[in-house]
Amino acid sequence: MNSSTPAKSLAKPISTAGKQLRVVRPEADNESGHSEQTHSTAPQSFSRESMVHARAVTKSYRRHKTSVAVLKGVDFSAEQGKMTAIVGQSGSGKSTLLHLLGTLDRPDSGEIHFANQRIDNLPARKRDAFRNHQLGMIFQFYHLLPELTLLENVIAPAMIGQSILSYFRNRSSIMKRAKELAELVGLSHRLHHKPSQLSGGEMQRTAIARALITDPKLLLADEPTGNLDQESGQSILQLLRNLNQESGLTIVMVTHDENIAMQCDALVRLKGGKVERLK
Ligand code: ADP
Ligand code: MG
Repeated sequence: MNSSTPAKSLAKPISTAGKQLRVVRPEADNESGHSEQTHSTAPQSFSRESMVHARAVTKSYRRHKTSVAVLKGVDFSAEQGKMTAIVGQSGSGKSTLLHLLGTLDRPDSGEIHFANQRIDNLPARKRDAFRNHQLGMIFQFYHLLPELTLLENVIAPAMIGQSILSYFRNRSSIMKRAKELAELVGLSHRLHHKPSQLSGGEMQRTAIARALITDPKLLLADEPTGNLDQESGQSILQLLRNLNQESGLTIVMVTHDENIAMQCDALVRLKGGKVERLK
């Protein structure tokens, strides 16, 4: 990378509660592929407003000697700037679909597109760079690193893909951004706490701040309120809603809480290996 390039301020600020938080992204190594654009291979049916789009996706898992078909031709689209919920019974394939959208796994057939880029067939390095730069992910059990403080957990993704040299060069802007995000999620008084010293709601807030450190365009959330009491769950949902409405973050959220699902802009159900649109 160009060693003299300073940390970059992205034009779009995240505004919160009356104040503007400027998104600062540490300069990525060129080799991370962030600036590389794969030429458009979007199918005809791809909507201009789609942020992520799955077409005719199938996925099976082998169990013992049999193959279990989980997704049997899924068409799914999440609009840019919207909050989309995916519901369905336990085992219906919600996490499987989310993992495919997040390039954590590959479909057996079908295609997945992100904006105008096909992402299901990216080579490993481009796929990892894509995921690190464009996507944020949060999970039911937070997946925080127990030995790290809140602040260290939040900055961790910003260190991935950077040389030690470039990390140290960008360290102060990363730290500043991590503190802004901790404030955004209401945890600036917990910066040096470890996950074991945080409540479930606070751990999920930390995970949200961590997911935002790379300024993703799309947040994928797998049952983010599934391990929380109703009040904490609702306040996490409100936080996600604010991020969506105030900064335009596109969110796809798996939930089996109907009350939460109904508060989203769009709602689909996975059933029998297919997606049906409910809202
Ligand atoms: P949901 O999130 O809707 O509860 P999942 O997507 O986790 O469902 O799982 C769908 C089905 O696929 C389940 O029957 C599950 O046991 C199976 N499954 C999920 N991941 C794997 C895997 N890595 N290997 C084998 N089977 C799996
Ligand atoms: Mg699941």
